[in-house]
Amino acid sequence: MGEASRPWRVVAVRRLSEAQLAALSAVAEVEYFEEISEHNRADFLAALSRAHGLIGGKLELDEAMLAEAPALRVVSTISVGYDHLPLATMNRRGILLCNTPNVLTETTADTAFALIMATQRRLVELANRVRDGEWKAHIGREHFGIDVHGKTLGIVGAGRIGAATARRGALGFGMPILYTAASPKPELEACLGAHRRELDALLAEADIVCLSVPYNADTHHLIDATALARMKSTAALVNVARGKVIDEPALVDALQRRVIRAAGLDVFAEEPLPASSPLAAMDNVVATPHIGSATHETREAMAQLAVDNLVGALSGSGPLTAVNEDAWRKPAATSGGNR
Ligand code: NAP
Repeated sequence: MGEASRPWRVVAVRRLSEAQLAALSAVAEVEYFEEISEHNRADFLAALSRAHGLIGGKLELDEAMLAEAPALRVVSTISVGYDHLPLATMNRRGILLCNTPNVLTETTADTAFALIMATQRRLVELANRVRDGEWKAHIGREHFGIDVHGKTLGIVGAGRIGAATARRGALGFGMPILYTAASPKPELEACLGAHRRELDALLAEADIVCLSVPYNADTHHLIDATALARMKSTAALVNVARGKVIDEPALVDALQRRVIRAAGLDVFAEEPLPASSPLAAMDNVVATPHIGSATHETREAMAQLAVDNLVGALSGSGPLTAVNEDAWRKPAATSGGNR
């Protein structure tokens, strides 16, 4: 934008450090909301209506809110996924969207592998038995798990996180790797001996299916009852992508009827997962509260990248990781009052 002297206004939402808020304040007037609740929602919307920039985690921003934010130029989300944001309208308005890829890749792959280990070896179920005082005799076959090493790992969406999960499996656990992706991944094939498959074939061959696709119209309910029926009855399904990639009622049914053996789930159709969900109570499910990137180090790095993106965009040096830089740089299709 190249208008460094212009007094930008920024709305910041959730979990920025004092140093990060100071970096934003150096280029803009900042209104910070630690949380948005019914008590301060009107204040947040009023601030948004004046803002040039919006930054934060779990940003709520829909079409109606965008329409009331005529000055908005940059949205910097503290996440790699942006399925919760109205990208088409932002493109039309020429609003820049920045996300935080790369810095969370390894941590999210660690989470995927933790879920793989937990589901295969029944870690949570069996640890709970110890905690509950039920370890009174040597365990028998009914509590045995299934090996991780040497099992076939199917990666659905072999992008950054999928590839990092595949590396852990192939190099750490000697797992044959199958993958799907929109495009072939010759480096995964060369380095890990991975094989690309159509989804149906991957589901039929893999012992563990790990989902790491973005959520969009194409991946909505990618794993439905038909897909689950293609999986081995001994297989586990792990999801670190987004909840709605799975048809959840179909998964509950498949787990109850042992169409598949187990699931490790970090993401859900509705979050927080309602306590009434059968997934919260099933022995063959390990459910975590959307912790894919939730380590001190990674959340700090994500927030810093989001700040650097916003400061770069507003100050004219440019963002580091943008989703739609082309739409931002070309004149907006409708005025929307933002350019
Ligand atoms: P990425 O590098 O863009 O990887 C996505 C991969 O999915 C790409 O390889 C892409 O293929 C592939 N793909 C896209 N559509 C597909 C389809 N219909 N079928 C099969 N493959 C498809 O993204 P990432 O950084 O790995 O992140 C992936 C997703 O993980 C994010 O969008 C986010 O929703 C989720 N996530 C969750 C957490 C968590 O806390 N649980 C944390 C971080 C990310 P191409 O490479 O050929 O384009």
